[in-house]
Amino acid sequence: MRVSRLMLVTLRDDPAEAEIVSHKLLLRAGYTRRISSGIYAYLPLLWRVLQKISEIVRQEMNGTDALEVLLPQLQPADLWERSGRWAGYTAGEGIMFHLTDRQGRQQGLGPTHEEVITALAADLIRSYRQLPVNLYQIQTKFRDEIRPRFGLMRGREFIMKDAYSFHADEASLRETYAAMDGAYRRIFSRCGLRTVAVEADSGAIGGSASQEFMVTAEAGEDLVLASSDGRYAANQERAVSFAPEAVPLGPDPCHSLATPGQTSIEALVAAHGFDPTQIVKVLLLAARFADSLVQPVLVSLRGDQQLNEVKLANAITAVLADHGGLLEVAPLDGALVQRWNLPQAFDAIPFGYLGPDLADGNIDKGIAAGVRSKSGSKAEVPSRLERHFLRLADPTALELPRFVCGANQVDSHRVGASWADLGPLPQKADLRAAQPGDRCLHDPTQHLEATRGIEVGHIFQLGRKYSTALEATFTNEAGQEEPLWMGCYGIGVSRLAQAAVEQNHDANGICWPLAIAPFAVIVVIASLNEPVQVALGERIYGALQAAGVEVLLDDRDERAGVKFKDADLIGIPFRVVVGRGAANGQIELVSRLEGEKQDLAADDLVPLLMQRIAAESPVTTPAHP
Ligand code: ATP
Ligand code: MG
Repeated sequence: MRVSRLMLVTLRDDPAEAEIVSHKLLLRAGYTRRISSGIYAYLPLLWRVLQKISEIVRQEMNGTDALEVLLPQLQPADLWERSGRWAGYTAGEGIMFHLTDRQGRQQGLGPTHEEVITALAADLIRSYRQLPVNLYQIQTKFRDEIRPRFGLMRGREFIMKDAYSFHADEASLRETYAAMDGAYRRIFSRCGLRTVAVEADSGAIGGSASQEFMVTAEAGEDLVLASSDGRYAANQERAVSFAPEAVPLGPDPCHSLATPGQTSIEALVAAHGFDPTQIVKVLLLAARFADSLVQPVLVSLRGDQQLNEVKLANAITAVLADHGGLLEVAPLDGALVQRWNLPQAFDAIPFGYLGPDLADGNIDKGIAAGVRSKSGSKAEVPSRLERHFLRLADPTALELPRFVCGANQVDSHRVGASWADLGPLPQKADLRAAQPGDRCLHDPTQHLEATRGIEVGHIFQLGRKYSTALEATFTNEAGQEEPLWMGCYGIGVSRLAQAAVEQNHDANGICWPLAIAPFAVIVVIASLNEPVQVALGERIYGALQAAGVEVLLDDRDERAGVKFKDADLIGIPFRVVVGRGAANGQIELVSRLEGEKQDLAADDLVPLLMQRIAAESPVTTPAHP
């Protein structure tokens, strides 16, 4: 490929739209252009990178006997209604683009494919003899992300490899899950990425065990907590640990304490010298469900702890499973009352002084005194407000024998309260966010350390959630019908390409790992005015092509310096400079990563490059027939 024919437009300066280095570099080096928010064009150089990654993914998937398919992107609503995910994915903060077709039928643009594949399995799989089977595709996914950002990292249209496996029993599922784990590790290392595998939350997809693969990078949106002995690593959304020991509270019997204006833990600590571990803080939130139920939630946490919102959403879902799915959890305040069209007058609640035993009557009072908010509120259906609190407490709070907490009236707290004084115990749920520095469960002498990561892959053991909902059953060896066991496995192909840049760049531009570089070699003719240079450059270009090396020829009529800068920016692993030495058949070979330069006879170049390319290419897994 000739650079003059490549439509290559490079930028000297960082584009204002990009925040992180990989996004800046992909724009500056002419790999991509933004079409609209979260929607990007994959230009020729980037498309080659994506093809390289896809090919590695394909080889490794085929290596585990998975079968490639291509499923429709337009998906009928009724499949998603049967799995119970339509409302959750389309209402509220739902991320599915959806539309009504000319027959008046609702369709969604696939954010993921569990529904479609499970419907196919229900149709095609009859007997245990057909199992296990694993199907994958590499395809564009659509997600109307709330915060699309960082270019390809979080797009609204992006390329994913997704695979779905079906099994007769859980043991078989575990086996395929382990095989996929191995394939994923090989894929990422072949792509030249440094990744860590971490325990993960299963999120809206559902299921039990799941593991994410994180590219370690400062710009990562995820926080990974890991022990230095390498035995534990988890996404903070999921991580567990021992909290610091609480400082015991003195023996005084329970009494009230005037705390005017002291509505925060810091204020209580400053005014009375409590330790934050002696306080139970109570948060009032509300959860909204697809069937329009609104459930007020009271969360009790130890004063020094932070709420983990993912764990909270999971705990709420576990208790209230059959309301069409949880749409949103948010602090119950004036803004939420407006936004969800709730009865006003919740402001009568003594915020800042809540105790775990705040009476349910406060909700009734709110309803009785409340006027519905004026039209113009966003709620589609007037909400059904539950008349009692869902009371949840983290074990760190429940384990305190005596503590400080709000007295449910303004300017007053209780000191020395115990759970026995406060009526029925809240339901216990792990709600605290593990923090760097916490002691590890597997070995309390180990401490959690934080690193940032970019999630490039996620594997799940789904179990039988989708097969049960969509009646995908098979006949087992004993002749009985039962739901299929399922796993699912994703890789963000386009995100991976950008993550590779995040991990592999320097001040001058991208340094692609050879395996996913758009071209292995760029031949730069220093001056187009020198016929000898042009002739030698063309000869080398032809020879490399004939040898099967992927090569670019920079034949543009630009200054040599401009071409060298561009070659560095676009990040081709090897640069061959055809300059003054051309008259004597001499050229220069420069390696992008090490910057190391070598003068050599043009005739020696092809064998030398072939050797270096072979040395850098790991042995590939042979693709199964
Ligand atoms: P995230 O937490 O980053 O939103 P997710 O948990 O929603 O990711 P999955 O549903 O597991 O992601 O999708 C599989 C893979 O697809 C992810 O591991 C990630 O690499 C990629 N991916 C997910 N969302 C996006 C997106 N908006 N843009 C680009 N890649 C994405
Ligand atoms: Mg997501």
